[in-house]
Amino acid sequence: MTAPRFVPLTCPSCSGNLLGRAQDRVAFCTSCARGYRVDGDAIAAVPVLVAGDARDADLALPFWRRGTLAWPAFTSARPLLLARVVSLHLGEWKLAPIEGAPWPLGARLAPETFEQALVFAGLDAPPAGAPLELVGVEVRHVDRRWHLPDDCAVLYPDDVLEGTSLLEAALVRP
Ligand SMILES: [Zn+2]
Repeated sequence: MTAPRFVPLTCPSCSGNLLGRAQDRVAFCTSCARGYRVDGDAIAAVPVLVAGDARDADLALPFWRRGTLAWPAFTSARPLLLARVVSLHLGEWKLAPIEGAPWPLGARLAPETFEQALVFAGLDAPPAGAPLELVGVEVRHVDRRWHLPDDCAVLYPDDVLEGTSLLEAALVRP
């Protein structure tokens, strides 16, 4: 398990350092807080928001979002369930531009991975033309469990298998 590190890339907007791990598809400029896809031939800007009400969140889990549809950008044993829970609650949560830590690190999956499957799984298709965004869903560590905003769900260890690791976060903040 590797600690966050600075990838050898700089922000196209401000030349600040981009924070991300080698396998991550999205990196973040620690100076201007912009997000960039770094998994293609060129660095491409991707809008980044945070969902929740906490500036003291323990961790922000990366989800792709298009309109009302949201799905995990990290590998999980329950991707469809997490997609359903977050999609259903996203409209109730405060969405704000990212301002800094906790960065929603660990986006290991391309947005195409689940998007089509989610529609077949019974979630509404996003409106045509809705932009793709990365949303950091803030979770809190309370009573040894990880809670999504408004306690709409509690996470199990295998809900995050790779990328942003609950174990890793627990080590940061036991
Ligand atoms: Zn920047």
